[in-house]
Amino acid sequence: EGERLYLGLDFGTSGARYAVIDKLGTLRAEGKREYFLHKRGESMDWLRSWRETLFSLLEDIPANLRPVIASVSIDGTSATTILINSITGEPLCRPLLYNESCPDALPTVKSIAPPNHTVCSSSSTLCKLVSWWNSDFPNKESTVLLHQADWLLWLLHGKLGISDYNNALKVGYDPELDAYPSWLLSQEYSRMLPSILAPGSTIGNMKEDIRIRFGFPKDCIICTGTTDSIAAFLAARATQPGKAVTSLGSTLAIKLLSTARVEDARFGVYSHRLDDKWLVGGASNTGGAVLRQIFTDEQLEKLSEQIDPMQASPLDYYPLQTVGERFPVADPNIMPRLHPRPDNDVQYLHGILESIARIEAKGYGLLQELGATRVDEVFTAGGGAKNEKWTEIRVRVLGLPVSQAVHTEAAYGAALLAVKGDEQNSHKDYS
Ligand code: ADP
Repeated sequence: EGERLYLGLDFGTSGARYAVIDKLGTLRAEGKREYFLHKRGESMDWLRSWRETLFSLLEDIPANLRPVIASVSIDGTSATTILINSITGEPLCRPLLYNESCPDALPTVKSIAPPNHTVCSSSSTLCKLVSWWNSDFPNKESTVLLHQADWLLWLLHGKLGISDYNNALKVGYDPELDAYPSWLLSQEYSRMLPSILAPGSTIGNMKEDIRIRFGFPKDCIICTGTTDSIAAFLAARATQPGKAVTSLGSTLAIKLLSTARVEDARFGVYSHRLDDKWLVGGASNTGGAVLRQIFTDEQLEKLSEQIDPMQASPLDYYPLQTVGERFPVADPNIMPRLHPRPDNDVQYLHGILESIARIEAKGYGLLQELGATRVDEVFTAGGGAKNEKWTEIRVRVLGLPVSQAVHTEAAYGAALLAVKGDEQNSHKDYS
């Protein structure tokens, strides 16, 4: 049998990327595109932008690789909501973006959902759906709700109304029951909800016209996707319970693979399902954005070189850009604490990096207290991952092995979902 390759596409907040990998995860090609920007009247024509970006990325894939791509998956931004006609596929309104808020729907959603449920946030997919349902749109029959990744995948496979349980979490899907809950099914608009598969499940073959246009093989299959942040976690290949990924970007986010599901709205902690495991996450407001307010990236590098990571810093800060924190301390009134500032900038930076490491350790401790599997190894992503001195500080403070993740691109994680989909498909052939 000839070579088989796998394509993952990531549609993030500012642009889109692709990654082509082989079965072992070796990267064979990758690329990115900023979104083409189109306007439709006053607002952005996002659907056109995404569609054109998708097809340009397919064109960017080296032509000699396309004929051996066995499967494709796509991740998109969470809670980006599209309502389309379930017969014609025609959009019924502009897409509602991940960060858009529909506060008008919040009281209704709060009245039907259990207290503190993920949908009880004005930017949740369910608030977007209810807000549209309450609008004066004339004909609401034959409507289906899709997330960004579902819609892009639909362009490739042509079957309407399919999503995955990661994207569907914020519309109210219960990943533990593996069903929509009864409080949601009893609503009239629940007819519009897509059917749900596990991420990386085979949906069907790629549409013939697209296959022929780009030179994909006849049996190329399209698989369900996930959200962009889960795809980025998958990229690090932390596949065992106890493995975690810390993202040291503008903010500090931690994600831990656990055998138990953990939820605590006070701390903004919730779990996504990944097959028979749970991906537990928490996000702090501390992180690189504070560093950038004080030092340039160049200064960060130079000053870090002079830090002795074996030495514990006595400085105890809580680096924040503004007042308030949710995780690992739930305190909307907590003040940023970056004083006293020593005269020596190396000591100052050491104190800040060490303080952020303590917050990270406290975060993992909290997840364990809440019932998650105990963390045993941490992979790092984001701008702070390359700082070796910080890594050594974190090894000491966390008391765990810490390393930079080899792959951190969400597109790579989506390609791994394509591998999964192809494996399931070949099992089916033999059974
Ligand atoms: P974003 O969350 O915006 O995507 P990135 O993952 O690109 O962030 O990371 C950017 C952050 O990394 C910046 O806030 C910056 O302070 C931080 N950073 C950059 N270089 C270093 C370094 N050498 N050490 C620690 N942090 C760094």
